[in-house]
Amino acid sequence: MIFCSISQEHDAVFLAKSWPIRKMGENNPFFMGLQIYNTLSASKEEFVPLNPGEVRIYVCGVTVYDSSHVGHARALLTFGVVYRYLKFLGYQVTFVRNFTDLDDKIIDRASREHTTCDAISARYIDEFNRDSKALGLLAPAHEPKATEHIPEIIALIRRLEEKGMAYQVDGDVFFPVQSFPGYGKLSRRNLEELEAGARIEIDERKKSPLDFALWKASKEGEPWWESPWGKGRPGWHVECSAMSTKYLGQPFDIHGGGLDLVFPHHENEIAQSEGAFGRTLARYWMHNGFLNLNKEKMSKSSGNIFTIREITAEREAEALRHYFLLSHYRSPLDFSNQGLDEAERSIGRIYETMVRVEQATAGAGSAMPDSALLEAFRREMDDDFNTPRAIALIFEEVRSLNRLLDDGRTERLGGRAAALKVMAEALGLLHRSPQLFVESRRERWIKKQGLSEAGIKELIARRDRARREKRFEEADRVREELKEMGIALEDTPGGTVWKVR
Ligand SMILES: [Zn+2]
Repeated sequence: MIFCSISQEHDAVFLAKSWPIRKMGENNPFFMGLQIYNTLSASKEEFVPLNPGEVRIYVCGVTVYDSSHVGHARALLTFGVVYRYLKFLGYQVTFVRNFTDLDDKIIDRASREHTTCDAISARYIDEFNRDSKALGLLAPAHEPKATEHIPEIIALIRRLEEKGMAYQVDGDVFFPVQSFPGYGKLSRRNLEELEAGARIEIDERKKSPLDFALWKASKEGEPWWESPWGKGRPGWHVECSAMSTKYLGQPFDIHGGGLDLVFPHHENEIAQSEGAFGRTLARYWMHNGFLNLNKEKMSKSSGNIFTIREITAEREAEALRHYFLLSHYRSPLDFSNQGLDEAERSIGRIYETMVRVEQATAGAGSAMPDSALLEAFRREMDDDFNTPRAIALIFEEVRSLNRLLDDGRTERLGGRAAALKVMAEALGLLHRSPQLFVESRRERWIKKQGLSEAGIKELIARRDRARREKRFEEADRVREELKEMGIALEDTPGGTVWKVR
């Protein structure tokens, strides 16, 4: 697997200091500022952080019982771009993403493998860290684990108990949804509708089928902690309430996750946190759309899923990022390998252009990014992180850079290429050396096609010979042969260069 180097945080700080991006456009009467679609209001709202210049964001992370898959990758990359773009705007961002390291699935796996839950979660946290590095995700400020926050979780449940928002049955503690008047406000349904839609509940100890466990008595062989209700372990939802409040306070600015978390997970987080403290939990709720395969929701249980490792072993990891960015984060996306291939070719085109720019501007020193381009980029991204339109803008720019290069007009290249890099950085793209990316992709492609670099060079040399000797028919024949292999030739003053399609 090829690991990409991750852009360092100082890049973003440098950006924010060098260009007052947040102030950009403020003299324009049509300037709107960042608009975010808030699931809570089901509408786009202007984003105004609680503290000026600062954003606090919590995103639900993965349950570490298995390899992360492309569905996780979509959520990770969605909020990874939100994180990067907020930094691009110059905000000081505190980004928190948890690990659920205590869950029935982890317990099952540990018992199947005759090992401990800690060993299972350590293995998959390790794997997750390698995946996020490959995907170019910026590290969160905090990555709390449920098992390391048991005292905070117990304190939260105690508080709910004191307010009459928890009841105990045989060592289990439940949250009575009837006790929280706002229950259903995120999924925009009322209690009756939700109860009607709930599965037939076999646990008759609960007052409502929607009541959920805050604490569970541990069975024989399960991990346990001492608590006021006996030996047990926390339920799932309560960990996010306890950990988000610990690291971000309450309220904080943005809470994110996949659309499948709206109900019941996020609904329950709201009930617990707002019930306990009588204050809003989070002000903006963002959810990314589902990832489907052949129109069916991709999921572990239906078996139609690829792991991040499987994808990144086959191709450049950046192709996956680019592929997701081509769709708006809220739209459902039908996953396809052809789509990924196309994304890989597209990202290759940006890198090839950057190689040309680097060659043409070698020794010219660094230029200030073109501010008109950055403003155009900001307009697109300010519209609820509209990455498809931002990517379209990048490709328009790639085309115009190539035109300037073709015409030998290099005087304006520096500023425009610098702007392209800044935009790409805000999306997490172009974080490798263009030359190395092009070479590594070419090597990978040659290997996949069962070709050899020496063989290709030999064919190119044969064509050059034929051209020199004016055997043009032969030269064209070789060019055609290479084209069928997927190789395009370009005759430049410095000789023939070739690239893969
Ligand atoms: Zn959560």
